[in-house]
Amino acid sequence: MPDDDTGEAPFWQAKSLDQMTPAEWESLCDGCGKCCLEKLEDADSGEISHTNVACRLLDIRRCRCTRYAERRRFVPNCEQLDPGNVHRFTWLPSSCAYRLLAEGRDLPWWHHLLSGDHELVHRVGASVQGRAIPERRAGPLEHHIVTWPA
Ligand code: SF4
Ligand code: SF4
Repeated sequence: MPDDDTGEAPFWQAKSLDQMTPAEWESLCDGCGKCCLEKLEDADSGEISHTNVACRLLDIRRCRCTRYAERRRFVPNCEQLDPGNVHRFTWLPSSCAYRLLAEGRDLPWWHHLLSGDHELVHRVGASVQGRAIPERRAGPLEHHIVTWPA
């Protein structure tokens, strides 16, 4: 898709993930918050189950990490996505911009880089807004397995 003003393809189409600047890479995140829901891994099969329980640092209303810069001090197993490891995280939701581009697909129409609207991800129901519950109220994760984050 050509850029309206320059006639050139936008950066997420013109560049591979490892060619992007840090700012371009960060801007891909749609703010859905789905990767910040707790997951369960079957010890035998390695199968991942998604839950609707939010990481304790997730602001459920805004779908943003409240301590992003220092999050690994509080949540050491929070994964850092980068162009080299994005293929490994098969649990990323199918709508995740990083997953889509890594699989050679394009961004969805509601993505803020196309729509210019950071709130649209919530209005179309593609985020965790209104669907996640705080960790402190959840109890056993096994009681909260859901399929929609995938
Ligand atoms: S799932 Fe992907 S697009 Fe959504 S918040 Fe996580 S990294 Fe960003
Ligand atoms: S620490 Fe922040 S970025 Fe990591 S899973 Fe929790 S809310 Fe998400």
